[in-house]
Amino acid sequence: MTQQGYEAVIGLEVHVQLSTLSKAYGSEAYGYGEAANTQISPVSLGLPGALPQANWGVVRAATRLGLALGCRIREYNEYARKNYFYPDLTKGYQITQHETPICNGGSVIIDTSTGPKTLGLTRIHMEEDTGKSIHDLDPFNTLLDFNRAGVPLLEVVTEPDLRNGEEAYAFLNEIRQLVRYLDISDGNMEEGSLRCDVNISVRPIGRAQFGTKVEVKNLNSFRHVQKAIDFEFKRQVAAVEAGETILQETRTFDSSKGITTVLRIKEDANDYRYFTDPDLAPVRLSPSWIEGNRASLPELPRARKARYRSELGLSDYDSELLTDGLGVAAYFDALLAAGAGAKTAANWINGPIAGWLNERALTIDALPLPASRLAALIALIESSTVSHSAAQQIFLRMASEPEANPLQLAEALGLMQQSDVQALQGIVDEVLADWPDKVAEYQSGKKGLIGLFMGEVMKRSRGSADPKIATELLRRQLD
Ligand code: ADP
Ligand code: MG
Repeated sequence: MTQQGYEAVIGLEVHVQLSTLSKAYGSEAYGYGEAANTQISPVSLGLPGALPQANWGVVRAATRLGLALGCRIREYNEYARKNYFYPDLTKGYQITQHETPICNGGSVIIDTSTGPKTLGLTRIHMEEDTGKSIHDLDPFNTLLDFNRAGVPLLEVVTEPDLRNGEEAYAFLNEIRQLVRYLDISDGNMEEGSLRCDVNISVRPIGRAQFGTKVEVKNLNSFRHVQKAIDFEFKRQVAAVEAGETILQETRTFDSSKGITTVLRIKEDANDYRYFTDPDLAPVRLSPSWIEGNRASLPELPRARKARYRSELGLSDYDSELLTDGLGVAAYFDALLAAGAGAKTAANWINGPIAGWLNERALTIDALPLPASRLAALIALIESSTVSHSAAQQIFLRMASEPEANPLQLAEALGLMQQSDVQALQGIVDEVLADWPDKVAEYQSGKKGLIGLFMGEVMKRSRGSADPKIATELLRRQLD
């Protein structure tokens, strides 16, 4: 992204909402869209005397995300209070990490039009969400919903390594895919499970020094992130060209107009009076516990994609589809383990299975057919016991009767492939007898009509004719 010799410099702060069973420091659960103020406790409201307790699931999720991103994991973690007043933060402070973020360093690799690019990470720390102020339900009052107060978040902060909106989009995609693989968040941006603040400045190309950054807060869709970056880049370049100074300010994105507007100007650094939370003991992670987590990480999307390409010889397209989610990738691996060939397994998953699931708006976890049973069906195709199209019919039956045996179904449905020459000869004779005109046309040179005869033979055999033998019999009769 360049405009009149300028480039954008961008760093992201991404909040990942964790899907732990209970909140970060209180024991109540949180679910999106529940009735207001029904998922609260003295701890998340910060009532006097309520004592927070750290949720081990949050520490584990942060560690696993950090390990997956190649971060250094800190063994000694303190919790800090970040003090500020806001109506949806009744405690008067947020419990977060300040000087001891659980993860430092690490990186994310994204694919760009000019090849892969590595984006550095600064840190990941654990914190909690605030409640929500609702301004558009009551014409006179601001309403407060504290359900979200105390919900665990991981904040992922990048180095200022990004240069345009496409890179930000690709980065968010990688993070979303990863948190889903690790099963620590649903990664749903529309429901606020992923939120992104964009820091952006501009500088003349070739200059090492960064310009003054502007922060655009709380973007809740990938498209908005991209549009906010595009808008800010143009606005800042125009301002610099007009001789104005860029102010360090916080802006908000107006999605209906596609512009950013000033929220507040940061004149001084905020003073949050951070100090170690006296109610929460520091958490100490043992090296063996950290290594245990590293060893139990699932194979990650990028490594998996590379393996499917290089070891299994699959196309980029197939590998991409198969590794998009862990469920599909695991099903694919299970098919291979049960003896299916890689390309055949890929075709089944990206074809009939994807179709079946899409029609029902389901994900593969809801497929009632275990990989071992599908592998048994695939084996029937490979041994020429059933044709490919017959197998698709059998698949549909098996999806509703997962216990059914594919071979018995093939027999019961009359779908066993007929390589029995005598039986096929009978059908071929019938077909040719019923189409004397077409036979004459074929014999006077319209060889393409073989397709019509084959179609008819397949129809009358209900898909069970062995296509090779049928073609041979037809040709022998006609030529
Ligand atoms: P602050 O103290 O204002 O929060 P940080 O140094 O913590 O600033 O950085 C916050 C985010 O802003 C990081 O993602 C970082 O990469 C990014 N950032 C820092 N300086 C710049 C800059 N000049 N232009 C663009 N992004 C920047
Ligand atoms: Mg900061």
